[in-house]
Amino acid sequence: MLLLRNVDTFTPAPAGRTDILIAGGRIIRVEAGLSVPDGFCDVVEGSRWLAVPGFIDGHVHLMGGGGEGGYATRTPELALSDAIRGGVTTVVGCLGTDGVTRSGEGLLAKARGLEEEGLSTFIYTGYYAVPVQGITGSIERDLLIIDKVIGVGEVALSDHRSTQPTFDQFARVAAEARRGGLLSGKAGVVNVHMGDGPRGLALLRRIIAETEIPVTQFLPTHINRNPALFEEGIAWAKAGGLVDFTTSTVPAFLAEGEVKSSTGLRRMLDAGVNIAHMTFTSDGQGSLPDFDAQGKLRGIGIGRVTSLFAEVRDAVQQDGVPLATALQVITSNPARILKLKGKGQIAAGADADVVLLDPSTLAITGTIARGRWLMRDGDLLVKNTFELGPVSEQK
Ligand code: ZN
Repeated sequence: MLLLRNVDTFTPAPAGRTDILIAGGRIIRVEAGLSVPDGFCDVVEGSRWLAVPGFIDGHVHLMGGGGEGGYATRTPELALSDAIRGGVTTVVGCLGTDGVTRSGEGLLAKARGLEEEGLSTFIYTGYYAVPVQGITGSIERDLLIIDKVIGVGEVALSDHRSTQPTFDQFARVAAEARRGGLLSGKAGVVNVHMGDGPRGLALLRRIIAETEIPVTQFLPTHINRNPALFEEGIAWAKAGGLVDFTTSTVPAFLAEGEVKSSTGLRRMLDAGVNIAHMTFTSDGQGSLPDFDAQGKLRGIGIGRVTSLFAEVRDAVQQDGVPLATALQVITSNPARILKLKGKGQIAAGADADVVLLDPSTLAITGTIARGRWLMRDGDLLVKNTFELGPVSEQK
């Protein structure tokens, strides 16, 4: 048991200074001036921190991704320490372009491993390609049979790396995800990788117009990757759709017109988009391939989960978005959209996923996941099985 005493708390709504009592991996009480018997639990004075909900990163290539520049460009798996340092206590794993040398089974195993190591994990079934076979043979079966599967993705549209699905093929993917989601009580979200192609969101708009599938079944990601897609995203979100920003980037992308997530958040709010329709994800461990106009690979970088909160912090410090607003895109919004029960909030009954921030710099100083300290005062307390050497040498 743990009592965080007198800590300035964002639930993500501002709750002022309060005490947070944690037991059995859950938050038991959030209340100022809690009295507990001596020796009842570990009492930690929290007045030097801000407490915010543990972050949810809804799009991470847990077992690596990439490979668009050949085998040597396949990216490595997520290191537990990156998630802990980035305050990410819940991750949703996905595959990417390559669903041949990477498999749903491998992704599920990696997700289970990270869960054993302290994180909360979920996965999308499928990869860029349509039709989707998934793990058990169909999207619907995967949603119903495999606990960790919460939707399908990332399936690719408007991209030279997509399998160029037809309207019927893509509507079928969405229908299966919806049916599987309804029957399993899960979100059944279709996580859609949006490429740079000029078709943009056109196929999604057509599916909304010509089928009964609701607009909220889709979570198009990389919405900030170019100015045209970003503008389409504003219209999509104002019409009730959801949009997901990708926080990992490289300077070359920004120079070519990618909208920095922090600035994009500000711009969408100014354009009248409801904050509830926006999420950030890192695209962690995904490759950041830089193609020229002819589709030739110029260079390749790698996404980092630590970019997730870095962009939220920039939104607050550089773009003037209130912390309680900016936090929603990595806490309460993904929890609600992805139906992650007990996640994304500091409240009695919620999972005890808490990130502690320095109030002046908003630097992450502590990470608690399901009631367990993974990082405290900047020191990693938990390490991956194969991250060798004393924890103190890994900083
Ligand atoms: Zn993608």
